[in-house]
Amino acid sequence: MKNLIQILERIDGKGYKAYKDLQGGYQFPLFKLLVDYVQGDPFATPSRIRIRVMQAHLKFHSDWIQTKVRQIALEDYLLRKWVKQIDQLSRKRGSGKSGLFTIDCPGQEILERTAVVVNEDFAEARISIGLPAQGRTVLGRQAKEMLVEQLPFLVKQSFFLNEEDLLKIERRMKLVDNQQAIRQEMSRQKWIAFIADGAILPRESGISDRPLQQMNVIPFQAPPTMKKVVKVPHGDSISGMAIPTGISLIIGGGYHGKSTLLRAIERGVYNHIEQDGREYVLTDPKAVKIRAEDGRRVEKVNISPFINHLPFGQDTKQFSTEDASGSTSQAAYIMESLEIGCSCLLIDEDTSATNFMIRDARMQSLVTKEKEPITPLIDKIQQLYKEQGVSSILVLGGSGDYFEVADQVILMDQYVPYDVTKKAKQIANDSIVERQFEGGEQFGKLTQRVPLKKGFDASKGKKEKMDAKGLHTIIFGMHQIDLTALEQLVDVSQVQAIAWMIYRVGELADGRQTLDELIEKVYTQIKTQGLDVISPYYGKHPGYLSLPRKFELAGAINRLRSLVIRSGG
Ligand code: ADP
Ligand code: MG
Repeated sequence: MKNLIQILERIDGKGYKAYKDLQGGYQFPLFKLLVDYVQGDPFATPSRIRIRVMQAHLKFHSDWIQTKVRQIALEDYLLRKWVKQIDQLSRKRGSGKSGLFTIDCPGQEILERTAVVVNEDFAEARISIGLPAQGRTVLGRQAKEMLVEQLPFLVKQSFFLNEEDLLKIERRMKLVDNQQAIRQEMSRQKWIAFIADGAILPRESGISDRPLQQMNVIPFQAPPTMKKVVKVPHGDSISGMAIPTGISLIIGGGYHGKSTLLRAIERGVYNHIEQDGREYVLTDPKAVKIRAEDGRRVEKVNISPFINHLPFGQDTKQFSTEDASGSTSQAAYIMESLEIGCSCLLIDEDTSATNFMIRDARMQSLVTKEKEPITPLIDKIQQLYKEQGVSSILVLGGSGDYFEVADQVILMDQYVPYDVTKKAKQIANDSIVERQFEGGEQFGKLTQRVPLKKGFDASKGKKEKMDAKGLHTIIFGMHQIDLTALEQLVDVSQVQAIAWMIYRVGELADGRQTLDELIEKVYTQIKTQGLDVISPYYGKHPGYLSLPRKFELAGAINRLRSLVIRSGG
């Protein structure tokens, strides 16, 4: 620490580049400060530092990191403390980003992240700091204030726990244990989703993921026939609606809460924090939201189960286009997800191509099967379940033809779900529909694709570039990847992780391994070495990353416009 003060006094008033002398490690009474990266000027990306406190100084219980889920929950809790403290303390002192502390800011989910790491030996926070300057002149005194006064205060407030923290962490541990227990029960019972009684599903607004707080919010209440009770390790058993594997429909009038329910199910692949309203809305982590996305690129995807004999004899076993239609994009999205091992399709009619979902009797008589390249999902959905074990949850308001193929039908009426399966089946039996089944004998083949290395060129001029630009865009070399259709992405730090993971996949690509195998390798590396490992700055401040699912990583790769798949299967 004395050394740090000496440097700061020496470089006071000098040019900004003098800050580079700070790089290195400094021992404070209670923690170690590691200065990993020093910014080139006050307007550039802020400097990156780590703060490491040894467990001997902390009062952390060893059972808080007993399981991976608990460890992630603890890290998330501590990160939120850092965010709060930094919010209160951080203020501008000078030009550019001078004086500012920043750290990754989580949303409503509890994700594995690189911002705070706790292990058996220490707790470490990875933060950013704008080293203060007037113009481009080092403000040594202000820097000293930040690093020698503010920083120890931040560390104390964030990492050193008070009575209230201990209670809250205990509560957090119980929450994630319970979430985990329900997930385990779900896989034993083969449930795709579990929505607890009392859950609050609607969100504050289209741009806020916080729970809707209004007098007239209707908490979720399971229909009696679908109600299940799950024993949990802490507290009373939890009851709720279990959606089993198979084909489930969510139907009902417009504005009655169908999409809200599906959206909660989509997000149930993640654990949520206390007070979110969706703490006990849990979904099979391999469920994938599928939507139409016209205009996207598709690279050699076998969409033949859904699309055949296109005009000009275009190949649909290795279908490529720079500009997909609504239906072909939705077919490609499904096939790409199956390729990576998706277990359940989540589909909302609001974001689907109608001609992909349904072809009714009248249309079948006028436009004969030979003239229609599309086999609609309704004719494939049962094969998909029976042959591939892939379930579906569909939101539908417009077509009752699906009653025939559904295993469960849930009616949303004024935000309250009803089990109307029997009634729907009755209606399907009573009314004769002339519709022809068009699905053929089998679902069709799933094809594993092999990506080639040359498709992963990240160079932009003399440098390589792979960066997140908000939640919906990745800059990868000369290309921008549009992620808007990946509706289960929740965090910019997931997007940053994906950008670097794509690069990793490119490094591993050898013209032999399939996309799924390559992706699996990257996740295995993360599992053994931690999420830090995908950062180019491994061993130092890794940047702000949170773990995405395989499906979103694959989704981004599939949308990379330079992707090249080996031809000939
Ligand atoms: P649908 O898909 O059936 O047309 P949405 O799910 O889009 O309907 O919901 C319509 C509106 O109702 C949304 O603004 C949503 O926030 C609100 N909403 C949904 N569920 C509830 C609920 N349980 N209580 C109160 N409002 C709700
Ligand atoms: Mg809707």
